[in-house]
This record gives sequence, structure tokens and C-alpha cells, in this order.
Amino acid sequence: MPAKTPVKTAQSLSAPQKALIKLGLVRDIDLALHLPLRYEDETRIVQLRDAREGDVVQIEATVTSCEVTMRPRRQLLVTVDDGTDTCVLRFFSFYPSQQKALAVGSRIRVRGEVKGGFMGLTMMHPSFKPAGGVLAEALTPVYSTVAGLAQSYLRRAVITGLSHADLSETLPPTTEWPDPRGAWSLLDALQFLHHPTPDVSLAALEDRSHPAWVRLKCEELLAQQLSQLTAKRERDLLRAPSLKCQAHGLHGRLLEALPFGLTSAQQRVGQEIAQDLARQVPMHRLLQGDVGAGKTVVAALAAMVAVDAGWQCALMAPTEILATQHFAKLVSWLEPLGVKVAWLIGSQKKKERAAMLAMVESGEAALVVGTHAVIQEHVKFKNLALAVIDEQHRFGVAQRLALRSKMHAEGMEPHMLMMTATPIPRTLAMSYYADLDVSVIDELPPGRTPIVTRLVSDHRRHEVVERIGAQLQQGRQVYWVCPLIEESEALDLTNATQTHADLSEALPGVMVGLLHSRMPSAEKKAVMDLFTSGQMGVLVSTTVIEVGVDVPNASLMVIEHAERFGLSQLHQLRGRVGRGAAASACVLLYGTPEGGRLSETARDRLRAMVETHDGFEIARRDLEIRGPGEFLGARQSGAPLLRFADLETDGHFLDWARTWAPHLLDQHPTLAERHIRRWLGGKSEYLKA
Ligand code: ADP
Ligand code: MG
Repeated sequence: MPAKTPVKTAQSLSAPQKALIKLGLVRDIDLALHLPLRYEDETRIVQLRDAREGDVVQIEATVTSCEVTMRPRRQLLVTVDDGTDTCVLRFFSFYPSQQKALAVGSRIRVRGEVKGGFMGLTMMHPSFKPAGGVLAEALTPVYSTVAGLAQSYLRRAVITGLSHADLSETLPPTTEWPDPRGAWSLLDALQFLHHPTPDVSLAALEDRSHPAWVRLKCEELLAQQLSQLTAKRERDLLRAPSLKCQAHGLHGRLLEALPFGLTSAQQRVGQEIAQDLARQVPMHRLLQGDVGAGKTVVAALAAMVAVDAGWQCALMAPTEILATQHFAKLVSWLEPLGVKVAWLIGSQKKKERAAMLAMVESGEAALVVGTHAVIQEHVKFKNLALAVIDEQHRFGVAQRLALRSKMHAEGMEPHMLMMTATPIPRTLAMSYYADLDVSVIDELPPGRTPIVTRLVSDHRRHEVVERIGAQLQQGRQVYWVCPLIEESEALDLTNATQTHADLSEALPGVMVGLLHSRMPSAEKKAVMDLFTSGQMGVLVSTTVIEVGVDVPNASLMVIEHAERFGLSQLHQLRGRVGRGAAASACVLLYGTPEGGRLSETARDRLRAMVETHDGFEIARRDLEIRGPGEFLGARQSGAPLLRFADLETDGHFLDWARTWAPHLLDQHPTLAERHIRRWLGGKSEYLKA
């Protein structure tokens, strides 16, 4: 019988213990890897004459006066003198016991930030204790924490974690691996970073260039590469149906029937996908292509390979509008070829849905297009072999897994093609997406006229409205996008509703529509149909048209409060126009805070939109400004972002990790496993999707 270990229930945990869990500090190693935000120097006593404004210092001095004043408000004013200068300590809240400890003549040790000013040196609410205690030997770490968890408790917990954690080496000796870690072992590096000696350069600690930091960054990046490589290799052991392109099959017939020829980029990625499909290993490919690059047709061609081989294909899109558009387009391409397409969306009528479900289950429908409705439990495929996910970053791990699980063939997995119009900067692709194969459509179909982008202050809104009038006269259509106000959906709506009312009034005789995320789907569809058919001249919307909408006759896009959008998002929105042959424009209206001017950085950021149309360049600037969270979207949920390494500055360590991860996995599999477990614990699940 195994010995019973007492299990702690949540109730028996103290408040600080719960707080530690909240911070994710569960294992000893988690505590050891919880590095300080900054340090305080309690290793020495500074003389007041050497203290400069802004320094956080520790002094020892004698109290020369201590009084409570009432003006400008009640406060305790204490003057201390250390023989080199004096300093005034101010306390707005204080206990009688503290006042007593600060009696004239007491010698105290004081820590606080020195401020200059009219009264000479001062400190606000410094900490103090009797003078003469021992001095710290190392800098004192200050950790990020949460309410209910005192620094002192956290410091003790970290020390315990550090002494209990297994920090044995997982990297081969440097003689075997040339690497940037230098002489620092993980143990040395962690001990040092938690308690650095006072002679260290604080700058090197702060900008994380110190060799101890380098060691940690290398370890972290290596863990990331290892876990992705492991996920990829595990996937390579799985089996998928081999789908080979047939000589006179549907693939070729669709190509012939299309009203356009493929661009060479589309042909290239088509071949990359075809090669994957022909293998008996499930494809796991990300297809990147700027808005309008023509990803849908590439997906349709891949689907035809599957259908030719006698299998089904599913295409999942994040919104009903997008799913509906895909459905319409695919039906127009495929039904003439005799391929039956089913569609599934949440707002469907019961009867229609039942018919669709039956078609999917019997295999009559070779292709199924839809929203999340496609992955619901009761949806049964006859034989799914290829799953395409459009705008993949809008879906989570669970959803991708659910789609995969729709394949029933024994021991088989479907091929997965994930599509995105948000280009992923190179460094991100190499780190967070290292387990994926990536194809890029880096060329737009010919005949697109470049979109002219202008920055216009909101004060000149009326001119923009005039311009809309001119566009409409030429038979063109216009999008007007209102921003998402994160804090309040209600405000969001007011904004869009107001704009809708204003435009309706300013443009008599023109049909102006409104589309927002809280409308019932049927209404959304009705509005979208009117716009698509050309009857509606102007479509005011919140960001529901963000992805994928395709109305070639729309030639002007106005984006209100453009400063509130991410650059990549603006780029996607802008991609809704310029789809036909007409000259197209995008107007970025920017609001000015309380009549002031838009900040220089905000304007610079928007200027990038005017200067470039290259989605990758825009994404790169976005990454610089907003960090990786934006791009990773749902993929990262539950998985740790890099905490120590910074992809902008640590690219060479990333290269190192990419080079050596396969080596460690092949030559030292047990070390590799320990390394992953140490750094990622149970958090590498997300890679399975
Ligand atoms: P996205 O990559 O943004 O999803 P779509 O697949 O919606 O782009 O394609 C945008 C438009 O371009 C569609 O109307 C599509 O039919 C058209 N298109 C795609 N490929 C070509 C091509 N090679 N030549 C001309 N038009 C194309
Ligand atoms: Mg698309």
C-alpha cells in the first residue's frame, strides 16, 4: 500500500500561499525562476552629502527635531543629521509608537528616496529602524507580487525554492557546445540574480545583458525550441491519408474553370501543400498571405485534391459573415464541377441544419464550410481528411483539437491547413511557431490598384463626408469603420449608431447601413447582402468586417479613431478595399485628445500605414510597439510567453537555441526532457493543436 500523503485543501492554505499559487509559483523551480523586478541596496550606509536627488539610499543619522504640524495638512516632520548634512523625513500617517521611536536624540537607520527642494533634502515615508544593525551582504531583491503577499514572505519563499529546486545542469559541457553561456551554470546564475553582490553594474542587471541573464535567456529559448521540436516529432509519428493529385481530377478542372490564372506565389504554395498532402504524415502548415493575396482559392484547390481521393474537407472561419462569403464563393466555383458544399452556422434554421448534417454524415457533401458550428459534437463526418482554418489566430487550441477529432479513421489524423492574413514577423515565426511549416503568398494578384492612405484629423470629418458623396456618384461603395472601445461595448455602439445617423442625414437618398457585433445574425446577413449586391452605398460598422469580407466594388474605407487600432488590424481593414480595378483609398481619421494634438508617437505609428503596404513591415513595427501578445492570440492561451528573452534584442540566442535543440534531443534525450519539464512544467500541451 502506498503511504498516504496529506493533501492540502484550498481552505487549509494561508493567504500568502494562495497568492503564490495565483502568481504561478507552485514548484520550487517556479520560485527559483521568479526573478527580481529590481534591487535595493542595503549593503551600505550613504552619507547625506553624497546622496543625490532620486537615489534610494540608506543613511544613519540622529533625530534633531520631531514635530507634528497641521499645515498644509497634518503630518509628522522629523529632521535628522548624519554629520555631513541634514534631511527632513515626512510622514502623513503615523502611529504614536513610531513618533516615539523618532524622538529627538534617537539614532536611526533610514531608507528612502531622496528628494531635493526648498527645504533641502527630504524623504517621504521612508522606512526606518534603530541604527547599528548588520548590513546586508547582497543587494535586496524586490519581486513582482500581488495583494496579500508581502515582499518578506516572497523573499523567504524564493530562498527556499532556490535551495530545494533541482538546478543540476541540463546542457552538455561547453567543450561539446560552443555557446554564449560562458562560465555560468544555471545555479550560479539564479543565485546571483536573486542576490547580486553590491559591486555589480546595476545597468547590466537592468538591461539584462549581464552573463547571468544571458545564461537564463539561452535556457529559456532552448526550452521553447525543444518543446516545439518534440511536438513536431510526435506529430510526425501520426498517420494521415495520403492524398495525391489526380491527373484529370477536380483540382485541374477547378484551375481551368477559374476566371483568373494563379499568381506564381499561389502556385508555389499550392505545390508545398500538395507535397504535404501526398505524405502519410498529417500536414500542419500555416499559410500566410496578405489580405487579398488569394488564400481561399489555394484552400479550395487543396480541398479538391482531398475530394478527388474520395475524402471530405472542412473549412472553418471565425465569423458567420466570413463563413457565408466563403460558402457563396466555393459554391460558385465548385457546384458547376459537381462538388456538393454544405454549410453550418449557429443561426441556421433547424430544418436546414438537419439537412446539412445529414449531407455531412452521409458523405454527400464533399466540403463543409462554417463557423464554430462545424466542430460541435453532433456534427459527424463520413471521412474527413483535410481541415482548413481561416484566420487561425482567432481560434483557440481546444477548437483546433476539436476539428482534428472529427476524423474517425482508426489511428489517423486529418491534414491541417491554417490560414492567416496577419503576417508573423520572422523572429516570432522562428520562436513561437517553430513547430509549424510555413508557406507565404508574397504577391498580390495582378491588376490591383494600390490603395492611397491618408491621415486626416477628425476636425476635417466633413471633407471626408463630401468625398464619400463623390465616390457614391461614381457608383462606388464605402466602408466606415468605428473603433472597438474595449471598456464598453455600449459606448461602442453609441459611437457607431451616431455615425450612422450623421451619415444618413448628410447623404440624403443614399442607403446607409449599420452592422455591429450585437445584431442578430439574420439582420447582419440582411445588411451584408444589401451591401454585397450594391444596393447599399455606405456600410457603417464596428470591427465585424475585420476579416475576409470581399466586395470588389467598395473603393473607400474610412476608419474612425484610427489611433485606437493596432497597425496590423488597420492593415487588414484597409485590405477590404482595392479589390477591384478602381482606384481605392483609405482615410484614417484620428481623434485629437481634448482639442490637443495627437502625440508624436501615435502619429508616427499611423504614418507607417501611409508609408508602407507591406504587411510584414507593418507587423514588424506592431511587434516593436505592442509586443508579441497581439500576434499569438489564442495560440498562446495557457502557454507561457517568453519571460526573459526578448526577440528584438536576443535574436542571436534564438539562433543558438534553434541550432542546438535538435542536437540535445538526439544526443541527450533525458537531459532534453528534464530541461523541458524544468522550464515549461505542464504547459506544453498547447503545442498539440
Ligand atoms: P485573402 O487571401 O485575403 O483571403 P481572397 O482569397 O479573399 O483573399 O481573395 C481576394 C480576391 O482575389 C477574391 O475575389 C479572389 O477570387 C481573387 N483572386 C484570388 N486569386 C486571384 C488571382 N490569381 N488573380 C485574380 N484574382 C484573384
Ligand atoms: Mg480570406
